[in-house]
Parts: sequence; structure tokens; C-alpha cells
Amino acid sequence: MADKKDYHCSFCGKHKNEISTLIAGPATYICNECIDLCHSIVHERKNENKKSKTVNSDIPTPDEINEFLDAHVIGQGEAKEVLSVAVYNHYKRISQPEDDDVELEKSNVMMLGPSGTGKTLLAKTIAKFLDVPFAQVDATTLTESGYVGEDVENVIQRLLMNADFDIRKAEQGIIYIDEIDKKAKKGENISITKDVSGEGVQQALLKIVEGTIVRVPPGGGRKHPGADMLEVDTSKILFIVGGAFVGLDKVIKRRLNSNGSIGFGARVMAQDSDDMKVSKEVLPEDVIKYGIIPEFMGRFPILVGIDDLTESELSRILTEPKNNLTAQFKKIFKLDNVDLNFTEDAITEISKIAKRNKTGARGLRSVLEKSLLKLQFKLPKLSKNAGLTSVEITGDFINNKADPILVFKDITEENININEKKL
Ligand code: ADP
Repeated sequence: MADKKDYHCSFCGKHKNEISTLIAGPATYICNECIDLCHSIVHERKNENKKSKTVNSDIPTPDEINEFLDAHVIGQGEAKEVLSVAVYNHYKRISQPEDDDVELEKSNVMMLGPSGTGKTLLAKTIAKFLDVPFAQVDATTLTESGYVGEDVENVIQRLLMNADFDIRKAEQGIIYIDEIDKKAKKGENISITKDVSGEGVQQALLKIVEGTIVRVPPGGGRKHPGADMLEVDTSKILFIVGGAFVGLDKVIKRRLNSNGSIGFGARVMAQDSDDMKVSKEVLPEDVIKYGIIPEFMGRFPILVGIDDLTESELSRILTEPKNNLTAQFKKIFKLDNVDLNFTEDAITEISKIAKRNKTGARGLRSVLEKSLLKLQFKLPKLSKNAGLTSVEITGDFINNKADPILVFKDITEENININEKKL
């Protein structure tokens, strides 16, 4: 057996006296310094694996995606189903080994529906669930390269920034391009009046959407000659485009009328009839008629129709999602130590007004802001000086027919006066 004095680290060879700790294994020894070194190597590897692991190897199933969407997005049942399957297939496709015989083609998604109905929210929520980078751009800001405005390639740069410049992660991200209908070419469609460079932007997007290598400057700066560039392969990025396509219903009605107007079972529809759901009837040919070029349309084989939100869906949006609007206002009031409550008919009235304004869920906030403005103006004083403890918002208050119900800590003459003053 070796003498105590001769103990050496089996890895670096240092003698026991040169280091602070030496740990013995069966017939081997390791010193504290080598342990530290091993630890940092293992740690680095772990981080590398984490970084390169982008989309979870076990892709969530369509019903898991759908369930998550249900928790965040109200209504839009059919759209959620189509999207869940599309996203599931997309990530299944990109996790395929590349040398496989059957090449699965990319299926980008086009969402059509009124503004403020949850198109962006759907895309964002999917990215959140899959834990992949997400970037949102407005098509109206995009121009063909060389024109004043944003180059279409900046879309990729934005995704890369949101992926903390991890190229592999960005390459599996989701890009949502909003207001694509504003880049429809001027032609047969009825609502577009200007076409600055609509078709050009669609053309410029074609390659990126299909899959190409985009070179972007590192650090989010502008391109300049001679600078090192980061290369991003866009072939695995899922592109979702969306737009309100105002007037598309007329294009569809025209088609339905001309197709079905001869023979039995003819489906003649008045141009202004409201009994047709765009989401149910829309075909790629309608969107092409509207001004999306066929090549672009071909790259978005999945068409998702988004419906207008109903009054009861708007009410649910006000109260159900985790970060819902009424909860946000309650929190704002609570910061002034006042409880804010809404009666059921207050919620209904707010939804009714938003529905009338045709601004989708976006209109809910403005209705609430407007109704609660005066109250918020007086809130700090009412809470501190008059001892206001709670406020109940009623339907009549929303409709300017009554004051809100105010509850004070003490009933004083002054408080009774406040209660009687119009808010
Ligand atoms: P779009 O992209 O269709 O114009 P957004 O998704 O940007 O509309 O919606 C605007 C806001 O309205 C969202 O941030 C969200 O808070 C709310 N919203 C819209 N639709 C829904 C919905 N179906 N469920 C829950 N919230 C919604």
C-alpha cells in the first residue's frame, strides 16, 4: 500500500501537499482543482445542449395545443382546431430527418378575419406554448428593398433579436405578419384604393416564406458592406399571415352567385345579405381575386377563417382570461385601497357598446377607460379623504343613466353628498 506522503491526484498528478483536498476512489484519487474543472466542463455541456434544444423533441399533440389556446383565447373554436393541427404538422415536419424519402412541404398559415378578434393573440399564444421565439410585424411597414421603409428581411432580424441571437432557436420560431391584406395588389378587389408597392412586397416575401438563407447583421444594426453577417435559414420558420380583408365577403358572394345561379339548388345570394360566414365559405381563389398573388397564396395552403366576436364572447373576454381587463382595472383601484366590482349587466352593456363600435375586443378597453375616467380622476381623493372602500359598476352607470354605487367606511354627511354628486 502506498505511503500517505505519496498520494497524488490521478488526473493532474499534483501531490496531496500541493492541493487542499484529495478525494479517494477505488485505486484512484482526484483533487479539488480537478473536481472544479470537471464541474465546469459538465456545466458548459449542459448549457450547450439546452441552447441547441429548441422545439421540444416531444411535440405537443393538436388537442394539447387546442387546450392551451382555449385557456387564453375566447371563441374561435374552428380556427383553434385548424391551427392546432397545422402547428403540430409543421413541427413534426421540421423534426424529420432531412434524408427522408418523402419530403414534407411547408404549410404556412393565412388567417382572415375582422380586426381585434384574436388573430395575433392566437399566433402569440401558440409560440408561448411551444416556447419558440416569436416576432410580429405589420405588413404595412414593409417595402421592397430599395424603397423607404422596412426591408422584408428585417422580419427575420426581429425574430433573431427575440431569440437572443440564438440562430438555431430563431430558425424554428414563428413569424406573424399582420395586415397582409393591405399589400393586396390593386385590381378587381373593391376596397383597396392604394397599392404603393403591394405586389412588390408579396414578391419579396415569397422566398423568405418558402425557405431561403437570409443574411442579417449581428446586434440588430443596419446592413453595411463588409460587415460580418449572421445567416438564418428560413425553411423551418412557421409564417402566419393575417388580415381583415374588408370586402372579401363581396368577392365570395359574387362567386357563389355566379357558380350557383344555374340549375337546381342554385344558391343565389343578395350582395348585401348577411347570412354568409366568410370563415366558412372562403376559398383561395377568392383571396387571389382580392389581390393576393397566386404564388403567395400557394405558399399559404392553410386558410383559417376568424369570426367576428359575439356579444357573449366579448363578455367572456372581459372576465375570463388570466390577465382580463376587469381584473386589470380591479388591480388599479386596489392600489388606491378601493374594491372595484362589476355587475353582470355592466359586463353585458360594455360588450354591447364594443360590439356596436365594431372594433372587436380592442374596443372593450376604450369603453371601460371612458366610463371609468371621471371615477379614476377622483379616486385617490375619495379613498384618502372620504374613506371610499368599494365601487360597484352597474349597467346603468355604463349607459350614463346612473352613478356607480359607492361604499364608504363611515357614513358622514359629506360622503352622502359625494354619493349624490354625479360622477
Ligand atoms: P387581431 O390580430 O385579430 O386584430 P388581436 O389578437 O391583436 O386582434 O386582439 C387585440 C386584443 O384583444 C388582444 O390583445 C386580446 O387582449 C383581445 N382579444 C381579441 N380577441 C380575443 C379572443 N378571441 N380572446 C381573448 N382575447 C381577445
